[in-house]
Amino acid sequence: MAGGWTRDGAVQDQIDDTVADAVLAARASMPSGASEPYCAICGDDIPGGPPSAPYPGCAPA
Ligand SMILES: [Zn+2]
Repeated sequence: MAGGWTRDGAVQDQIDDTVADAVLAARASMPSGASEPYCAICGDDIPGGPPSAPYPGCAPA
């Protein structure tokens, strides 16, 4: 009885990608009144960085 679940890295990758897309979409739709020095991908602080810029250590696909 083969299961229909594939519990491998591909599933998590897809989830990560979906979350990243949602975060980026949410940030893009926000009014750009207050500048938030946070990475749009991982949420880390970006000292002196522009809003929604990926953190230097963060490499989104
Ligand atoms: Zn990041």
